Amino acid sequence: MSNEKSKGQQLREKLFYEPKHAADLISDEEITRADSFCEEYKSFLNRAKTEREAVKYIIEKAAKKGFVPFDRDKKYEAGDKVYLNNRGKAVILAVIGKNSLKQGVRLSAAHIDSPRLDLKPNPLYEDSELALFKTHYYGGIKKYQWATIPLSLHGVIVKKDGSSVEINIGEDENDPQFVITDLLPHLGNEQAKRTLGDGIRGEELNILIGSRPFKDDEASEKVKLNVLDILNRKYGVTEADFLSAELEAVPAFKATDIGFDRSLIGAYGHDDRVCAYPAAEAIFDIEDPLYTAVTVLTDKEEIGSEGNTGLNSSYLKYFISDLAWTQNINYHTVLSNTHCLSADVNAAFDPTFPDVSERKNASFVNKGVVITKYTGARGKSGTSDASAEYMGKIRKMLDENNIVWQTGELGKVDAGGGGTVAMFLAALDIDVVDLGVPVLSMHAPFEVISKLDLYMAYRAFKTFFEEK
Ligand code: MN
Ligand code: MN
Repeated sequence: MSNEKSKGQQLREKLFYEPKHAADLISDEEITRADSFCEEYKSFLNRAKTEREAVKYIIEKAAKKGFVPFDRDKKYEAGDKVYLNNRGKAVILAVIGKNSLKQGVRLSAAHIDSPRLDLKPNPLYEDSELALFKTHYYGGIKKYQWATIPLSLHGVIVKKDGSSVEINIGEDENDPQFVITDLLPHLGNEQAKRTLGDGIRGEELNILIGSRPFKDDEASEKVKLNVLDILNRKYGVTEADFLSAELEAVPAFKATDIGFDRSLIGAYGHDDRVCAYPAAEAIFDIEDPLYTAVTVLTDKEEIGSEGNTGLNSSYLKYFISDLAWTQNINYHTVLSNTHCLSADVNAAFDPTFPDVSERKNASFVNKGVVITKYTGARGKSGTSDASAEYMGKIRKMLDENNIVWQTGELGKVDAGGGGTVAMFLAALDIDVVDLGVPVLSMHAPFEVISKLDLYMAYRAFKTFFEEK
């Protein structure tokens, strides 16, 4: 047997496009670097389960890395690092480049909101001596997945006097947790006839929060009263204060390694913290870039990017405009020359559910960072379809820097679909393509990603920012 490859084998290697497992393409040292990069990612996931907590974490870290609040009236020099906090729910980080802003910025955009259960404005009630919270789900969820799992409660309550209290209950091991109940199978015959999507209904997503009465023979709704008494003594809140609150119930699980080989991470909220984290780390790790580097970590993507903390608002445009102003340049000149990686996840091929994917265009766990030319649905509706030229530029950058990458489509044609923030960036006349990490069980309370893919995303953002 000769070790030499046949002519056909050689030709095949030259001519075919065949994405490979990242572990076969990178060194053992790089695999070790990837694994250690993921340790801090897991602690980020545990500490930042909501957009507000993510902003807090990122700004604390940015401050340690020399970022200061952006001041539109200041002049900035190359190498200066600034951030802008949008209402505590979105954040923009920037490192000023050596080039004039006329040449555009290198922008990465990820979102830090994830599907969850929001409390209704008037959530608290008692039924049959149990106290419960009514919820209204946020983002696309399979509702049945959210029953009988431990939940924690995060957010903010603005009280009658205007002061606010932060809430985070259920993450510390000494904290209580919460849960949505489900029927026992013995009595589930009628429920089992429902469709899967209807298995647990929106108005059945009621969170159990208490069961002991306030000791008083006269009062009614004593379990509810007891819960309010506890909340009043701990936070000084009354029932009306829920009206001016944003409280989010999220899975109380901690991020954990998955698999005997520890190659994967299971956690709540990989979509899209698995892109937000490396996009932030990449901008933290660059010094003196040629082009001004910007990372925006936005809110509201999961409900269509609406609202003033979502990317369909003008806050990013205003920031770029203010930045342009510091150099006496028209902001649209900056935007038109800007290149962007819309950093969002794609659906990883799942061998248990192969029918929704088309193998030649699906992304796979461990085959590296995934470039998604377009998302959308029904004939590419609702997407920014990246140009061949821009795809070519990004592909060349990844190849030249040995970053393992693959292409991906969001499922088979007409199997469903979805969108990202790419279209809102394209609307600003920015060149943009989606680049992110493949996810298994996307939007479930416990999603799965590969450590090597996450590390490749970090390398992709960093290389993008370091363009020469
Ligand atoms: Mn996403
Ligand atoms: Mn999503």
